[in-house]
Amino acid sequence: MDPNEFEYVTEGMKWLAIAGGTYFGALLSISSMSHIFSKKIHNQNELDNVVDEEASKLGMDRPVKGILYLGHGGIAVKNEDGTYQIEIGVESARRSDVRHELYHVHREDFDRPLSNFRYWFVAEPRAIAYQAFGLKL
Ligand SMILES: [Zn+2]
Repeated sequence: MDPNEFEYVTEGMKWLAIAGGTYFGALLSISSMSHIFSKKIHNQNELDNVVDEEASKLGMDRPVKGILYLGHGGIAVKNEDGTYQIEIGVESARRSDVRHELYHVHREDFDRPLSNFRYWFVAEPRAIAYQAFGLKL
């Protein structure tokens, strides 16, 4: 490789890193903004009501159980018996997190073997678009 070629590759990698950082930064900002402006969920009863409301807004034809746990974050799960649940950390539980995890259930994101690429460039932005803007992509 001649030195000029090396410079192009280095420059290309630099721009790729900048683009990647911008992409993940944008995802995180959109997700965080919708989280901050969303109503807090304090207990299991509130979570049950929000899950019911949001599942019916999505027109979901399958029951989804909401589980509040001690901690942060959330996850969508399909159990071995075919039932669905979303688990939401009470420390950071908000309606927007329920919308996000329900959208993963709605799109069956967990049913496919999710490569990291698919997770970060398809499943996650799609769930964030619904969580923040109600877009069903
Ligand atoms: Zn997600």
